[in-house]
Amino acid sequence: MNNILTLNNGVEMPALGFGVFQTPPDETAEAVAGALATGYRLIDTAAAYGNERGVGDAIRASGLARDDVFIETKIWISDYGYDQTLHAFDKSARKLGVDTIDLLLLHQALPGEFDETVGAYRALERLLAEGKVRAIGVSNFMPAHLASLLGQTEIVPAVNQIEVHPYFTQAELQAADAEQGIVTQAWSPIGGITSYRGEGATSTFTDPVILAIAEEHGTSAAQVMLRWHLQEGRSAIPKSVKPERIRENFDVFDFELLDDELRRIDALDRGVRGGPEPDVITLESFGRDIPED
Ligand code: NDP
Repeated sequence: MNNILTLNNGVEMPALGFGVFQTPPDETAEAVAGALATGYRLIDTAAAYGNERGVGDAIRASGLARDDVFIETKIWISDYGYDQTLHAFDKSARKLGVDTIDLLLLHQALPGEFDETVGAYRALERLLAEGKVRAIGVSNFMPAHLASLLGQTEIVPAVNQIEVHPYFTQAELQAADAEQGIVTQAWSPIGGITSYRGEGATSTFTDPVILAIAEEHGTSAAQVMLRWHLQEGRSAIPKSVKPERIRENFDVFDFELLDDELRRIDALDRGVRGGPEPDVITLESFGRDIPED
């Protein structure tokens, strides 16, 4: 049974979901179909991934009721500002082929243009009030971004999706989320970024501590990392295009890590992020057009 998290507005979200960052658009429907057949009921995409259409196609083809799948997507920074973000919802909803998006996030803060970020978030608040989205949130927001946002808007984000894996745990940021009743959702939850952007560094998949715990339980390293998230109360959205890994990453509900094992994994934190530094995100360096269709 997948754990269910209750968001701060009462909406229920499966804790374990499926991500599609870097999944090529023409492989997305197949990957998502495999995930839905396996049992995943939360799919995480983003306007910037260019594959929302494949996500929508797979959900429609699955035969599952719309209400049985939790769809999450993100507004890219190039579409920030109140009116542009309202329009960005229409673009994403059209590509996904849905009327309602379950969780809509701002993909990044724009620290140098925070007014635009606030305008974008106010658009999310309006979409929520109109029932076009069931919950709203943010991604890659640091404590200062959260504080600034909370000071200028009405609705506390339901979710902050941030980089969390054993080599980068962001304990302070997780505490800041928890203080506000915000669910932390881990991206790169099994440390994919330590592997595909590892530049020669060791990856979480080959970490001796994680492998020893995996051996203890007769599981894989990825399964241990996913249990670690779930048992610490986070949502996690692993990505794969490989059917056997899609199944492996969902097969985590019949074993439990000991408290001591959770602490040993916490202690692997190196304090070095794999993704871009949230404070240096600018339109100049990261802006790009999100197509209408
Ligand atoms: P993950 O931690 O999910 O790792 C994915 C990588 O690990 C892929 O290279 C995948 O390759 C490989 N992999 C998957 N399963 C296994 C396994 N069981 N054993 C060994 N290798 C495995 O990293 P992601 O960065 O993809 O993050 C997951 C999701 O988080 C994204 O898809 C996206 O939805 C979200 N995300 C959000 C960001 C944000 O800024 N908000 C940034 C980055 C990600 P293969 O596909 O070949 O199996």
